[in-house]
Parts: sequence; C-alpha cells; structure tokens
Amino acid sequence: MRMTNLFFATLRETPSDAEVVSHQLMLRAGYIRKLTSGVYTYMPLMWKVLKKISNIIREEMDAAGAQELLMPILQPEELWEESGRWQAYGKELMRVQDRHGRMNALGPTHEEIITALVRDEIKSYRQLPVNLYQIQDKFRDEIRPRFGVLRGREFLMKDAYSFDTSEEGLETSYQKMSEAYTRIFKRCGLETRMVRSDSGAIGGSVSHEFMVLTKTASGENDVLYCDTCTYAANSNRAESVMPPAQTDGKFSEAKEAETPGVKSIEDLTKFFGIEPSCICKTLVYIADNKPVLALIRGDRTVEEIKLKNVINANEIRIAGNAEIEELTQKFGFNAQPGFIGPKGIDVQIVGDESIKELKNFVIGINVTNKHFVGANWGAEFNLPKKIADIRLALAGDFCSECDGKLEITKGIEVGNIFKLGTKYSEKMKANFTDENGKEKPFIMGCYGIGVSRTAAAAIERYHDKDGIQWNMAIAPYHAVIVPVNVKDEFQMGIAEELYKRLIEKNIETVIDDRDERPGVKFKDADLIGFPVRITAGKTLSEGMVEIKLRSTGEMFKVLKDEAVSKVVELIKQELCGS
Ligand code: ATP
Ligand code: MG
Repeated sequence: MRMTNLFFATLRETPSDAEVVSHQLMLRAGYIRKLTSGVYTYMPLMWKVLKKISNIIREEMDAAGAQELLMPILQPEELWEESGRWQAYGKELMRVQDRHGRMNALGPTHEEIITALVRDEIKSYRQLPVNLYQIQDKFRDEIRPRFGVLRGREFLMKDAYSFDTSEEGLETSYQKMSEAYTRIFKRCGLETRMVRSDSGAIGGSVSHEFMVLTKTASGENDVLYCDTCTYAANSNRAESVMPPAQTDGKFSEAKEAETPGVKSIEDLTKFFGIEPSCICKTLVYIADNKPVLALIRGDRTVEEIKLKNVINANEIRIAGNAEIEELTQKFGFNAQPGFIGPKGIDVQIVGDESIKELKNFVIGINVTNKHFVGANWGAEFNLPKKIADIRLALAGDFCSECDGKLEITKGIEVGNIFKLGTKYSEKMKANFTDENGKEKPFIMGCYGIGVSRTAAAAIERYHDKDGIQWNMAIAPYHAVIVPVNVKDEFQMGIAEELYKRLIEKNIETVIDDRDERPGVKFKDADLIGFPVRITAGKTLSEGMVEIKLRSTGEMFKVLKDEAVSKVVELIKQELCGS
C-alpha cells in the first residue's frame, strides 16, 4: 500500500469527546469515524485489524469443531415473543416496523434465531452435538454508548451457540470454547483472565467472562486479581480474606456513652481515638421498598450487588436521611441517622462476615447522641442470624484461593461464555429425540466475543504517548518504509526496491511516499502503530537502513541487502512472542 493512496487522515489534536485512550487513538490515527452516537465507520486500517482478529477467531473456532454461518440481522417479533424476551429485553432492543406494520428487532444477539433454526433442522440425537457461529454486526441501543467502539450501539461480534444432548455434553462444549477463547486472545497478543460471572447465590447458570486487565485507568470494570494464582473477579463479586485488623477497642467496660453530634465513622474515630475497625457500622438500605439493615466493620464498604443477591432482592439502594427519619417512626429506629443500630429493630438484618470477630466494639443503639461502647456479641448484642459476604473486596486483601494478595485494576470484558441449558429450547419447544425415542429439549451454550471491543482493548493495553503499539498478529500492516526525502531519487529507488521485495515475501507493507517532512512521517508511523519501521535516509551513504521495532523502540542498523531478512526475523519473533 502506498501512503499516498491509503484512505486515512491523522489528527494532531485529541478530539474532545473521546475520554479513553483507545477512542482517542482510533480517531487520531484514522481508524474510525463517528456517524452518530455509538455508531462508527471502520476505516480501511480498522477493517484490516478487525479482519485479522476475525480470522484468528475463525481458525480457532473451526479447530474446536464449530461451523460458521451467517444469520440475518432483522429478526421477527414472533420469535422474541416465543422466548419471552420481546418484553424482557427492554430498551436495548432496537425495534423497527416494516411497511406491513410488522415489528422486528435488529439483532443484539441470536439465541432466538439459532434455536428456531436448529429446531427445524435437527431432529435426532444422532445429529448432535453441533456448534454454530457467526461474525456479524450487532445492534444494541445501549443507554450510555461511550468510549468509542468499546461500548458502541452497532458493533462487531462473534457469537456461537452449542447444542448438546446432555449436561455432560454441554460441559465438554463449554470446556472446548473456554480453551479456544484462551488461545484466541493469546494469539491476539492479549493476556486475559477468565472470571466467573454468575453470582451463585441467585442460582444463575454458569458463565465466565474473559477480561483483559488494562493496567491503566481505562476499562469499565474494576477487577481484583491475585498476584500469585489465576484468581480474578469483578469487584462486585470478588471474594477475599481480610488482613487481620485491630478489632479489640480500647473499651474494657460495656456501657452507653454520650456522643453528642458524633455521627459518622470518622467522627467516632476522632471522638474516641479509635480505629474504624473497632466500630460496627449500621447501614440502612431500601430493598424492593422495604428497609434492610446491613452491619459491617467500620473500615469496610458494603458491595450492594452482593447484598442484593444475599437477600434475593430485585432492586436495592441506600436509604436517604429523610427516608431514615420516616422509617424511624414506622419501625422504631428511634434515632437520627448516624445513631441507628440493630437492637430492637424489626426489619431484616444482614451482617457481613467482618463483624463476627469484633470485640469490645462501638455500635449505634437507636438513641440520638448516644452509642454503645465495649460491646460484644452474645453479651449486650446478638450477632445477626444472617451472616454473609456483603463487602467490597479491596486491594491488599488476601486471595480466597491461595496465600497471594489481591491487586485491583480496570478490566475490559472481551468475551464471555454461558451455559444456557434449556432456557431457550424449553420455551421455544426446540426438541430432539433421544436414543429411546423420547423428546427432549436441546441443552445449549452460547459464546460471545466482542471483535471491535477486542481491538480497542488491545490499544488500551498496548500504547504509549506517541500512539498505538499493535501486536504483530493484529496490526493492519506489518511494516512501513519511510524514505526520508521522496525527492531524493537514490533514497526513493532503494525504498521502492525494498517495498517490492517485502511484498514478494508476503509482508504487509506500506511505503510512505508522501512528500512530507520526515518528522511528520515518523509521528504518523508511531501513531498508526506499524510494528516495524524501515527508514531509508542518510545511513544509505554507508549502504545501511534503520529498522525500528515499535513495541520496544529498539533500533537496528542493517545493510540494505539484509533488511528484508531482518524484517522477516523480527516479524517471526514478534508473532512467536504473542
Ligand atoms: P457488557 O456487560 O459489557 O454489556 P454483555 O454481557 O452485554 O457485555 P454479551 O451480550 O455476552 O455481553 O456480548 C458478548 C460480547 O460482546 C461481550 O463480551 C463484549 O465483548 C461484546 N459487547 C457487548 N456489548 C458491546 C457493546 N455495546 N459494544 C461493543 N462490544 C460489546
Ligand atoms: Mg450489555
């Protein structure tokens, strides 16, 4: 490709509406252009990246025994009625009416379509198992499209669906997909952690997310991961073992104490000169319109999703001060916010595991301007019947699976795998006949990869102040040749010769034949992120060219006749490294 022909433009300024690095760099380097909110054109450079990721996915999916097909984007309402999701899916489902007044969805995912297809095509256990996948544009009317293609409304996804005759069969299919996913991301140069994503408590079926740990502030999810083993989890589910805290307060005597206007944990620690971990904190939540008390050690935070799952609520939020005052009258809290405690209150109470070990602690007793000090469970107070893990795990906590320590980083979910079981096949009456001639619903799994999101995640993970550092496996081109001065016939002649020889070796090469200052060309090469740059400039007087590796910044001066073999070697090395 000649740079003078390449359809692209780099921007010097960072567009103001791009918050995260991948979005900024994709815009600046000419990979994407926005059409409307959450909808982007993939420019030729981007499309090359997406095709490379897609091809890696195809190779690994095919090797795992899956077959590619392509289903329509337009999906009739009737199928979504069968599964019950026409109502349940909510506003993310883009609904469009055709000229006959019939309603359709723009596919956000394809469980309904594939289930209906397999229901019609497969009748017998002999035809199973089967795993079908596609790579296609999806549409979701996301409430907050943001971060460019990381969370778009229209985006490229690989979705696969497995059909088995038994749970064991599903387990095998699931396992195969999890292995294929690990290989896919590795080949894209991305280290991922497989994170279990069902809550367990609410009995959801098994699913796992594949997370790229970005090690930067970008990414939508906080992920806690172990520095020693492979444990990793979304912060709203992560479990941890707390480091021992100072739980034995300075109070030897159990008694009520005057605490005038002392409301917050911070106030209490200052007032008594104690650590927050000597306090049993009481928080009031409203869960499905009913108050719930959560007790937790004073230095820790409640994770609302965990609490919500523990009490099986649909909706949960912290009560406002005015609400607490109102509840005070209704439920006999009998105190202002800041002095609430569990004693004598007739609402559901959940204690975090962290409170079990508390000794001689401080706690609210529903009397304004008073707290109880030197309290102990089993003596002045009863430990709540319901004790569970409802706390936010923190970096520095110990791993729940080994003796490592947890660290926190931002993570990007690039893929996920679900055991669907018979969720769709039962509702949609998608059955096969088993060995005994009995009708049974298909046992299904579904497996997604965000193709466009993976490209963005790769940039989040690998970039520097100058631009993108593509892994060789997914870079739009392997190499760029920069003749420093295109008007210099000697330089240009050698650049052209190298270009020809690299192309002959099937190396995807761009020649920057623009009549631009070398500074501009070098800047663009770094911004676009070509993994290898070959400079034909003043070193040619010694018969040498300069080769620079984008990922490490390493420079090599080699004889021009050895340039091609050096480039081949570097490409091999980079591909093996991924
Ligand atoms: P998220 O929790 O990020 O919304 P999801 O659980 O809705 O993701 P799936 O429905 O399982 O995701 O989709 C499969 C994959 O598609 C995800 O793992 C993600 O990589 C990608 N994906 C989902 N929504 C988007 C989006 N709005 N933009 C880009 N990629 C997306
Ligand atoms: Mg989503």
